[in-house]
Amino acid sequence: MAEWEFTITGCGTSHGSPMWGRPDWWSSDPRDRRRRSGAFLRGPQGQVLLFDCGPDLAHQMTDPYLDWDGLAYPSRCVTRCDGVLLTHDHADHCHGINDLRHLNRLMRGDGIAIHGEQGHLDQLRAMFPYCFGAGEDTYAMSKPTLRTVALRDGVTTIIAGMPVTPFAMSHGLAGRTTGFRCGGMAYCTDVKVLPETAEPHLRGLDLLALGVLRDELHPTHQNWDEAQAVISRLRPRRTVMIHMGPEVRYAAWEPRLRPDLALAVDGWTTRFEAA
Ligand SMILES: [Zn+2]
Ligand SMILES: [Zn+2]
Repeated sequence: MAEWEFTITGCGTSHGSPMWGRPDWWSSDPRDRRRRSGAFLRGPQGQVLLFDCGPDLAHQMTDPYLDWDGLAYPSRCVTRCDGVLLTHDHADHCHGINDLRHLNRLMRGDGIAIHGEQGHLDQLRAMFPYCFGAGEDTYAMSKPTLRTVALRDGVTTIIAGMPVTPFAMSHGLAGRTTGFRCGGMAYCTDVKVLPETAEPHLRGLDLLALGVLRDELHPTHQNWDEAQAVISRLRPRRTVMIHMGPEVRYAAWEPRLRPDLALAVDGWTTRFEAA
């Protein structure tokens, strides 16, 4: 069984944190600085699968572990991409698509496949036609070279050596999102209700990355209590909470954490078994 790395490059919501114009939500705790949503898997041959390509992608790829001193070259930057797993078409999850051209460049022009649900892929193509071959290339790699690959819910596909099973989740009023089971872990951001059809894919998990917005209820995201109910039902060995709102204070939630329950910070990283 091969070990893979899972790293969270952004654990914030669409606003990120701090949210400008909200001095009342300012926190001087560095654990409360959150880039917009993003994460990746890295396999034993160095292959990289991104979860989404949000608006902070360039910063996330430059300094994925948030440990760059800003003086020397950022040698821990991400320099390849063997596929993107798209959870949905919201701006905070796909508006960094243009930055994928840098990964094309670093891979000497190799194209990148974006895997996801057909409707989300159609929206992506409609929003960013130039990334999928439309229009002129004014110079080499002036725009990304991408293609889309539609996945079917519940059907496992091997992507860059990782068995990936997508499943539908409810984003409340915002429609559906896609959760991904990848070997021993699952990535479930932007979820309000986990449908019964998703649960068979979430049994026996080593690691669950789960979206938890805040303490108060919200129409499109789980709050703390809703997320805890999901965790007690699924009983993953470990859970890391992601996609926190700018009002969440790490220090306020820290006393609630348990050995099996972590709160993400940007750069949070772990290893898990792929199968
Ligand atoms: Zn989001
Ligand atoms: Zn969303």
